[in-house]
Amino acid sequence: MIDFSLTDEQKALRDLARDFAKNEIAPNAEHHDHTGEFPKEILKKAHDVGLMNLHIPTEYNGAGMTVMDEIITFEELFYACSGVSTAILANNLALAPVLLGASDEILKKFIQPMADQLTMAAYAVTEPGAGSDVAGIRTTAKRVGDDYIINGSKMWITNAGFADWFFILAKTDSNAGHKGMSGFIVDAKTPGIILGKKEKNMGQRCSDTRSVTFEDLKVPKWQMVGKEGDGFKIAMGAFDHTRPTVAIGAVGVARAAMDHSIRYANTRNAFGKPISVNQGVSFPIAEMARDIEAGRLLCYQAGWLIDNGYRNTYQASIAKVFCADMAMRVCTDAVQVFGGYGFNEEYPVEKLMRDVKIFQIYEGTSQIQRVIISKFLNDGVGIESPNL
Ligand SMILES: Cc1cc2nc3c(=O)[nH]c(=O)nc-3n(C[C@H](O)[C@H](O)[C@H](O)COP(=O)(O)OP(=O)(O)OC[C@H]3O[C@@H](n4cnc5c(N)ncnc54)[C@H](O)[C@@H]3O)c2cc1C
Repeated sequence: MIDFSLTDEQKALRDLARDFAKNEIAPNAEHHDHTGEFPKEILKKAHDVGLMNLHIPTEYNGAGMTVMDEIITFEELFYACSGVSTAILANNLALAPVLLGASDEILKKFIQPMADQLTMAAYAVTEPGAGSDVAGIRTTAKRVGDDYIINGSKMWITNAGFADWFFILAKTDSNAGHKGMSGFIVDAKTPGIILGKKEKNMGQRCSDTRSVTFEDLKVPKWQMVGKEGDGFKIAMGAFDHTRPTVAIGAVGVARAAMDHSIRYANTRNAFGKPISVNQGVSFPIAEMARDIEAGRLLCYQAGWLIDNGYRNTYQASIAKVFCADMAMRVCTDAVQVFGGYGFNEEYPVEKLMRDVKIFQIYEGTSQIQRVIISKFLNDGVGIESPNL
């Protein structure tokens, strides 16, 4: 039986996230966009009300929620500001490989305390010379006795300046391709971690993105996530969990752009009547609604599959590329609906158009999602959902 209804708990979670977005994020979004200030206070409040790190298992004092629960939550948070919400989402990205591969010892030491206090985390995989081509990373981790010594540089690491710990992907065997990579969890205060300056980005300006350099960073071997050689599998496997939530973030931004467009089109007059009476304005808005609905269902499908034990890589990539490209188009159309005012920072859609671009780039570009989808199609799998 197909059932699209939310449970009572999910409805309560959605309402909590919606209220938080309306009362805590939206009123401060403009300030954080203009100043670029990291939204630490908002994150503290999000943690207090239980909107951070939703998928930490209950045995480690977490909420033990599903990807679907996260999808429902993130649509609401991103509706209010995707810059603030990316800081929350980036924590999930760092957590995902750790939850996939880490030992009980790591989970008790690093993850369990996250329930009690706001702890920020960062996923450090991309490098100055390798983003899409993860196998091209050059950071090395050399075994010396009971430790690994990590050297190299990472780039574009979200939350880096405020991270309490990093998930780091490094090469433990330079001759073994994908199988020569390993993941580590490392306390941010460990000597040998050097942070770059906060990058000034086009959008999501309060999200903290930096380069991070490791100089003879000494990490005890028990802090390896999974086994030696498991790093690539774990780091990429994380995306099956997080891409549906990034995709729904784009849906949230698109929904905000559509709501602004509807309001504006009904109040702005041209030629003696509201611009909304023209099909040239109302049809693009109708198409926004059509594509937002479709995008949300793709996210729900990708979330449902993984929550029910199916591999969802193909569906997660489809959700990510559809929602990212759709939201970019919706925000561009929203600027068009606003005319000259759409191009101005005193009106809301200019920020949305700047913010939304990154969805086509982070967590795998829109081209890379197409590469993944094509591979599945060429291999003859993934054309049908595995549950059909
Ligand atoms: C604001 C921001 C936050 C980020 N946060 C994080 C983070 O927290 N952690 C992290 O590890 N990384 C993070 N990233 C990095 C992000 O994931 C990469 O930027 C992204 O994967 C692309 O890599 P690249 O920038 O090196 O571009 P490249 O890989 O050099 O690609 C350049 C262009 O070529 C295209 N291209 C490359 N290969 C192919 C191909 N085979 N077929 C078709 N087109 C191709 C790409 O799609 C892109 O358009 C972040 C980036 C930004 C900008």
